[in-house]
Amino acid sequence: MFHTIEETVAALKDGSTTSAALVKESIDTFEKDKSGEKPLNAFLEIYASALEKAKAADEEIAAARNEGKLDALFAEKPLLGVPFANKDNISVRGERLTCSSKILEGYRAPYDATVISRLEKAGAIPLGRCNQDEFAMGSSTEYSIYGATRNPINRDYVSGGSSGGSTAAVAANQSLFALGTETGGSVRLPASYCGVYGLKPTYGVLSRWGVVAYGSSLDQVGIIGHTPRDIALPLSVMSGVDFYDDTSADLPESSKLKNLEAFSDFASLKIAVPRQFEETKGLDEDVKKVFEGVKSWFEKKGAKIESVDLPVLDASIASYYVIALSEAASNLSRFDGVRYGRRVDEGKGYDNLYVDTRSDGFGPEVKRRIIIGNYVLSEQFSGDTYKKGMSVRARIQREVAALFEKYDLILCPTCPTAAFRLGEKYDDPLAMYLSDLYTVFVNLARIPSVSVPAGFTSVENKASSSMPVGIQFAGKMFSEAKILSIAQAWENEHAGCGIPVKE
Ligand code: GLN
Repeated sequence: MFHTIEETVAALKDGSTTSAALVKESIDTFEKDKSGEKPLNAFLEIYASALEKAKAADEEIAAARNEGKLDALFAEKPLLGVPFANKDNISVRGERLTCSSKILEGYRAPYDATVISRLEKAGAIPLGRCNQDEFAMGSSTEYSIYGATRNPINRDYVSGGSSGGSTAAVAANQSLFALGTETGGSVRLPASYCGVYGLKPTYGVLSRWGVVAYGSSLDQVGIIGHTPRDIALPLSVMSGVDFYDDTSADLPESSKLKNLEAFSDFASLKIAVPRQFEETKGLDEDVKKVFEGVKSWFEKKGAKIESVDLPVLDASIASYYVIALSEAASNLSRFDGVRYGRRVDEGKGYDNLYVDTRSDGFGPEVKRRIIIGNYVLSEQFSGDTYKKGMSVRARIQREVAALFEKYDLILCPTCPTAAFRLGEKYDDPLAMYLSDLYTVFVNLARIPSVSVPAGFTSVENKASSSMPVGIQFAGKMFSEAKILSIAQAWENEHAGCGIPVKE
């Protein structure tokens, strides 16, 4: 497996590799990993269609080579023959999709998600579906019927969630890039835990058509890659208005993403660091050190950094969980044993079929959330809780937008800690929810943010392993090209932060 899309495309063009060879390599790694002592469990399956699609791509490449039209072909299909990992909640026509839940056992997607059809139009090959927290609810990829995805840096640690499978697949070099989904950090958090880049785009930039809904006003597809350039190119081919998603929007400057340049005008850059995030009680000392390192890198390059006060951020977790869980309760009512997947029918009538299917099909975390969501929406409480959650969200949006009138970037850690050991927070939902402390304001504010691998925790005085630490570069709405180019400047000087190519 090559390290970047650019290297891979060059090798496909000069014939030193084929798309089929890349897919076969992934199948071999997948099979080998399954039988290992501590399986990574990143992929759940490699799609049967992947090899056929790769062979078709190889034929197209060979024909264009014979006709001397390779450059024209790759200009039209910049990802031709490049395989990517998919998350188990994004539809690929004819393939299984389960959201890592028993309730969707046996379900096959009847159509392609728009992000998938656009990637395929650009020539990319959907390689397989990856593990996740059930219905994307979680921060560790432990809440999956398929068992946890391990962290490739240390297999006794969690990969982060909910897009832990997609992220571990990239970090372990089983895939060049991957799709994940974000409702409140599910791409950036695992990217931070596994030491790769993860982007949550502006709400609307990527169509949600064909993506299983969790919290629709927050949900967004995200991209994981080894470099910001490897995120920018797939983003450029997927972004933009989609007839099937009324909330979709065009991404201005998406042409800059095709060949992403590293940012250089640091003297003009004004960066805000929210005081609320620097003063968090649970902020790990090592994460703080890595964060200080990133701040001084920016300062040395001439950027101006200022602390800002945004007290409303203290309420972002509360607001997020109220809104996300309310929307989840409503969205998940469609899994009723009639329309999708599994059905438990003991011949006792529709009401029982509904109750039995759902109590058998959903895992404990999903049930907890449906119960909380419905409770919040019940007439008695919605005034107090749901409306308050919504007004906090509106304030976060307003205050963050106002901040971007003065600043170009919000800089903060991705998570208060690095990856934790498997099982450590499994039975402590509140501790798990607090992992999302620094990520959810981005979804509430609908802005883009990229988690950048910025260093490691130290092992001194700790009975723990040195694990990666991610820092977020968040920008105003539709500033993807800018934040990714700043991240690329970081990458050019730090090369994945020395995180070795794994496997
Ligand atoms: N950890 C958050 C949650 O459980 C985020 C999940 C996500 O972004 N899909 O809701």
